[in-house]
Amino acid sequence: MTSSLPFVQESGNLSAPALMVHGGAGTFERLRDEGERARLEAGLATALATGWIVFERTGAALEAAVEAVATLEDTGLFNAGRGSALTSEGMVETDASVMDGATGTAGAVCAATWPANPVRAALAVARLAPSDTTSSPAASRRPGLGAPVPGRTVRGSAAWHPLLLAGAGADRLAEATGLTSMTAIRRAVAGGAVAGGAVGAPAAHGAPPQEHDSPGTVGAVALDGDGHLAAATSTGGLAGQPPGRVGDSAIVGAGTWADDSTVAVSATGVGEAFILAGFAHRVDWSVRSGVDLDAALAAALDVVSLNNGSGGAIALMPSGRFAAIFGTRAMARGWRDAREVVVRI
Ligand code: ASP
Repeated sequence: MTSSLPFVQESGNLSAPALMVHGGAGTFERLRDEGERARLEAGLATALATGWIVFERTGAALEAAVEAVATLEDTGLFNAGRGSALTSEGMVETDASVMDGATGTAGAVCAATWPANPVRAALAVARLAPSDTTSSPAASRRPGLGAPVPGRTVRGSAAWHPLLLAGAGADRLAEATGLTSMTAIRRAVAGGAVAGGAVGAPAAHGAPPQEHDSPGTVGAVALDGDGHLAAATSTGGLAGQPPGRVGDSAIVGAGTWADDSTVAVSATGVGEAFILAGFAHRVDWSVRSGVDLDAALAAALDVVSLNNGSGGAIALMPSGRFAAIFGTRAMARGWRDAREVVVRI
C-alpha cells in the first residue's frame, strides 16, 4: 500500500475566518467519469458554504469544521457517514474525531454503527468535557497528577472525561444526544426525502482492505475571526477492512489535531501508517519548533511513506497560512475565506 508518487503541495495565506475541507486522497478511479468529478466538487463547495454559514451564525471554528464535515457525510458521495465503505462482513463501522484548538478539548468515536453523522457523535464526546476547560489549572484538580508546572498553561479539561468512545458506547451516546441514526437517513434516502446515491461500495467477503480507490475520508480545518483553530475528520475506514479495525481518523494526534498556538490538521490515507507516524502530532511539533508548514507536512508524510502508507492532509495556522499535501494520484480538497473559494480534485 505504498506510493512512490512525489508529493503535491499547495499553500498560501487566507484571512480569518477561513475554512478548508478534504474528501480523501487516493487513486480516485471514479474520476474517469466527468459527472462524478462535478458531483464531488459540488459536494466540497457545499461543505465550504455550510461551514461559512456556521461561521456567520456562531463565529466558532469548531462548529464550522464539524458542520462542514457533517455536510460531506450527508452527501453520500464520500467514504464517511452515509457513504461509508463496508467492512469485510458488509457492515458500516465509522470513525471520527474533533478537536478545539482554543481549549485542547477533543472527542472521538470509533467502530460506530448508529449515527448518520459520526462527526457529531465525536463532538458529543468532546462535550462530555466540563465547560470550564479553557486554560484551567487542570493538573491541580486531577488526582495523582501532582501540582501544575509553574508558568505553564495547562490545556484540556479540568476533570477527567472520556475522549474516545468505541462501538456500543459511541452508539449509545449518539442516540442519547438525539442525533440522526444511519437507519433513519437511509430510509429518508430510499423514500426520496434526501438527495444522493447509495451507501458505500460492498467489499467482497474476505478481500483485503483496498487502498483508497474512490473518494474517501472527509475532514475540515477552520480558523475563526478570534484566531481559534479547530479540526474534524470522519471516515468509513478502508473498504473491506476486518470488523473492529480502527484507523487514524479516530485518533487525536494522528488523523486530527488543533492547537491555537500552532496548527489545525486533518489527514487522510492508510490509517495504520498515519498512526505509526504520529502524523498530526508530528506536524504540530515541527511547526512549534519553527519549521515552515509545507516542510512540516512533507516531513510527516515522509514518515507515513516509511511506514508503508500513503495519503494526504490539509492544515491551517492561526496566521491564516494554509497548506494541502498528498502523495497519491489525487486528493479532493477546497478552501475559502471572504475573498476566494477554491475546490480541486
Ligand atoms: N484514514 C482512513 C482510515 O485509515 C482512510 C482514508 O483516509 O481513506 O481509516
